[in-house]
Amino acid sequence: RSLTNLANLSKEEIKKFIDSFDVLLTDCDGVLWLENQVYDGSPQALNSLRDLGKKIFFVTNNSTRHRDEFLKKAQKMGFTCEKEEIMTTSYLAANYLKEINFDKKVYVVGSKGITSELEEVNIKYSPIGPDILDCDLMTYIENVKLDPDVGAVVVGFDQHISYPKMLKAASYLNDPNCHFVATNTDERFPIGIGGIVKPGSGAVVRSIETCAERKPFVIGKPETYITEAIKKCCNIDPKRTLMIGDRCNTDILLGTRCGYQTLLVLSGVTNLEDVRKWKESDKKEYQDLVPDFYLGKLGDLLTLIN
Ligand code: PLP
Ligand code: CA
Repeated sequence: RSLTNLANLSKEEIKKFIDSFDVLLTDCDGVLWLENQVYDGSPQALNSLRDLGKKIFFVTNNSTRHRDEFLKKAQKMGFTCEKEEIMTTSYLAANYLKEINFDKKVYVVGSKGITSELEEVNIKYSPIGPDILDCDLMTYIENVKLDPDVGAVVVGFDQHISYPKMLKAASYLNDPNCHFVATNTDERFPIGIGGIVKPGSGAVVRSIETCAERKPFVIGKPETYITEAIKKCCNIDPKRTLMIGDRCNTDILLGTRCGYQTLLVLSGVTNLEDVRKWKESDKKEYQDLVPDFYLGKLGDLLTLIN
């Protein structure tokens, strides 16, 4: 992969690049916006690509919103967007359970984003929210009630992760027939506040997989379930598909695995110095993180294509 700066290309080369893909998968946080702050020019850039006839999918590892909320957020920021184009990991986790005809109850370690999507496909779940140790641990263990109807544990971003939740999840997962699904494994999330780390869903998932002594089925990037789901509703020629992302170990790696063209924007997690180091490495695992193209931010594309 060439790690070409799109900003250095001539008008003709940019046109050739734009003509080289029909389907575009874009990461959201770090590419389109940071939390609730839209990035300058990103709605206009993406809308222009849509006007040029590109089929667009919004591909996010975020599990904390229902697709309707996500749609509202994107539209309010100025993105032209339809519900069918939104691929969140909470929607896809519910979709996965539906696909395997799951008919028991889900123990959710996560947020309303997951439970509201389960509701949409009529899958039952046990209540979510804070679950804290309110007595000594042995008393808790002796009295803990496990729900015999639970047949799956779904883990996503949970700001109320706690020892009782880990204990319950791992106990359900002790049954080898209990499904174990994780929305995503992002280590941490960018917040734009210096010095503060926002632990990601990966930290929650790893805590449970450690005590469960099992690995989950992971829905989110860089695993390819999302792209399998997209392929069901849209014809994809990998070579004519572009994956845009800000994080190489999720977005770019997914693109590499699927044989897509890849574009890294530098407005989020991964910085160019790291990518240059990976490019020089002779290890395939690092090479796979290197994108074909990079650009400062998505909005910069607007001046290049006009
Ligand atoms: N999940 C949560 C809870 C987040 O806050 C974020 C980003 O801030 C993500 C996932 C990653 O989202 P994306 O894949 O759109 O970058
Ligand atoms: Ca991102």
